[in-house]
Amino acid sequence: MSDLKKYIRSVPDFPKPGICFYDITTLLRNPAGFRLALDEMEEYISSKKPDAIVAIESRGFIFGAALADRLNLGMVTIRKPGKLPSATISQEYSLEYGTDSIEIHTDALKTGDKVVVVDDLIATGGTLKATCNLVEKLGTEIVGVSVVIDLNFLPWREKLSDYDVNCLISYSYSSE
Ligand code: AMP
Repeated sequence: MSDLKKYIRSVPDFPKPGICFYDITTLLRNPAGFRLALDEMEEYISSKKPDAIVAIESRGFIFGAALADRLNLGMVTIRKPGKLPSATISQEYSLEYGTDSIEIHTDALKTGDKVVVVDDLIATGGTLKATCNLVEKLGTEIVGVSVVIDLNFLPWREKLSDYDVNCLISYSYSSE
């Protein structure tokens, strides 16, 4: 297991009572911590030899952009509704707290492209599952999923069983 946990701050009862929020701002604020996370994600993603990185709004953009630059790959943005200016397709999904939908530009990827999807954290896996479904609507293949944190006490593995998922650190209890 990665040494990264010491850079993550756990914030109880955010954004509502009973939710423990795993805060990556403390990781980003520490150059050694941010670099270590990127090093580990880069190693995994490069082994998958993707054609592009797909990053999820908004914290996924932070990691996805840095990794795309390191790996000399393009990055595709998955955004909240109404943010992308050209033609889009969308997918609904449920969060640990609430529901939402996401969009992608229809010309961002094409049939036969291989991508790795990047985000900061998997909770229920709803956002990542919706992203994978959205990307697959364009005929694109998901060759991997890379996140910094996964919440092991939530059943995201069943939802993402079709995909190879790389997580740097896991939390086993919601109060950890
Ligand atoms: P989910 O769709 O349930 O897997 O939720 C994943 C998304 O919600 C990620 O993009 C996270 O940024 C955010 N998120 C959900 N739960 C938490 C949490 N406990 N701590 C930090 N971020 C969270």
